[in-house]
Amino acid sequence: MTDTAAPISQPKAPAGWLGRLEGSAWWIVLGLAGLLLPLLEDSYIGVIAQRAYIYWVLSAGLNLVVGYAGQIAIGWVSMLTLGAYTTAALAAGRVGPEWHPFLALAAGGVMGAVAGVVVGLPALRLRTFYFAMTTLGFSTIVTQVALAWKDVTGGGVGTPGPVFPWPFDPGWGFYYFCFFLAALATWMTANIGASRYGRALVAIRDAEVAAEASGVSKARLLILVFMLAGALGGVAGGLFASLQSYITPDAFTFEMSVLFFIAILIGGRGSILGPALATIILTALPEFAAPLVQWSTFLYATLLLVIVLVIPGGIADLLDFRNRRPLEKHREIVTRPELLARVLDRHSEKNTLSMTGIELHFGGVRAIDGLDLEVRSGEVHGLIGPNGSGKTTALNVLSGYYKPHAGEARLNGAVLPFLEAHTRADRRIARTFQTPRIVGGASVLDNVMIGGTIFGQATFSETLLSLPRHRRDEAHLREAALLALATVGLEQLAAVRADRLQHSELRFMEIARALMLRPAFLMLDEPAAGLSAEEIRRLGALIVAISRSGTGVLLIEHHADLIFDICDRVTVLNLGKKLAAGTPAEIRSHREVVSAYLGA
Ligand code: ADP
Ligand code: MG
Repeated sequence: MTDTAAPISQPKAPAGWLGRLEGSAWWIVLGLAGLLLPLLEDSYIGVIAQRAYIYWVLSAGLNLVVGYAGQIAIGWVSMLTLGAYTTAALAAGRVGPEWHPFLALAAGGVMGAVAGVVVGLPALRLRTFYFAMTTLGFSTIVTQVALAWKDVTGGGVGTPGPVFPWPFDPGWGFYYFCFFLAALATWMTANIGASRYGRALVAIRDAEVAAEASGVSKARLLILVFMLAGALGGVAGGLFASLQSYITPDAFTFEMSVLFFIAILIGGRGSILGPALATIILTALPEFAAPLVQWSTFLYATLLLVIVLVIPGGIADLLDFRNRRPLEKHREIVTRPELLARVLDRHSEKNTLSMTGIELHFGGVRAIDGLDLEVRSGEVHGLIGPNGSGKTTALNVLSGYYKPHAGEARLNGAVLPFLEAHTRADRRIARTFQTPRIVGGASVLDNVMIGGTIFGQATFSETLLSLPRHRRDEAHLREAALLALATVGLEQLAAVRADRLQHSELRFMEIARALMLRPAFLMLDEPAAGLSAEEIRRLGALIVAISRSGTGVLLIEHHADLIFDICDRVTVLNLGKKLAAGTPAEIRSHREVVSAYLGA
């Protein structure tokens, strides 16, 4: 018997605040360069650097929207415009009495936050290009209003930007102010990026259904992130107005918007360092090659094309040396079911998850045609049937992805709502997917940690500032994820990027993610597909152990041996209807089932 208290080996993943800023050496170099740059006493370079910092304050927030959440917000220059005019107009006393520049700057941030939400709301409904168009439309509207509303903005003539008082007065004082705010934006967005919020954003981008199944509420999260990105854009605008010393609507060009957006793609989606470096490069590049200024948009576009074609992962991928080390070729998945006692809650009470009279058709296809099914705590319930018989659809109904045309689903007698997939996690109903839904660019550990999202306590603002509750959340989630990974035999791969794993490893990784929910019910959609005979044997033992610890398991499978070995009860589907149900022994001797699937 293996010792259940055996230590779980820790992956060599960076930890602590420096580790969270991936590639800490780069940040130290950037930070020192920024701090020491004034020693050059070159005010021209100083201005370029200030512009890069200001752009990065905006892009840092936009990075969460575009790079993390995958939303195509190309018109984000509107936040810069709004922030600039709000700060400038208030500081100049164009609206009521003159505001102190710092207060005016804060107001610019608030204005950006509000606008961020307004622009972001359509993202909850509109897909990709349509959303991109709304952000562009919004930036056009903002520019037009700036032109027309002469009292406040000075129209085409423009208005002076705010002048910040000592010690942040124009020159190197203001330089350090911009530097400090850029550093702050980096730190805050890195905190979000390396939190359950950041992981959820990336999951929304790459594996939305898995994010929902883990209890991520997309709408709430996106709104928070749009608000943050808007606020940072607004603050950047206030700084920009001060740097320009005089602003007119044509200072806010479409090229700038393109720069912000492309810097993130060139930098690498889901990274903070990459987009920061790319923003600096794209800001400085046209300056040092003066003739190129005219061509900057063309240049950006070409750079983007090259990057997309040659290194799709962007700069972040280039710098990711850790994931270029070869993995051991012959890896074995050695599951450790004995660890389950520490992974799962013990459910001593008897729970039932059931569906009755479910009917669901897709157009003319009767995917499910009157199905009753009940899964109980501590049992493995097999669901078998030929391809297209409605197994996955049944699971999707239980998980709340579909609303059936008739029938209902219940948990312990209480009706489960449909079309609210993200609420299943709170009820401790976990699942895996027939095709693994994973975040390929994130580490295995991060992928598994997504599964524990609902157990985080820290609010978005606490996370932003890395307050103790956030750090406690991370420590707990990390520990739980390592334990879940050890249980499924993958802890050695914790730090590896998930898209480097073999198919069978991904299946086990999904199970680890589902276990993070400490599920009362676990639904597995063909977990043995693509596994070797030995892996299937270990999977079977793991599933049995999961059920013995009190979790009810619904197992969709094609491997008849596995089903008959480990199931307590089996339901056979055909054309959306129940063909037979009973113990494995009953099913094995059921004449129709035998003749249809099992062979004589
Ligand atoms: P199984 O998992 O048993 O192989 P499914 O539940 O995936 O079967 O599919 C059952 C039937 O419903 C199939 O005929 C399939 O083509 C159809 N179907 C499943 N999902 C959809 C969908 N989203 N839109 C249209 N038809 C679907
Ligand atoms: Mg299926």
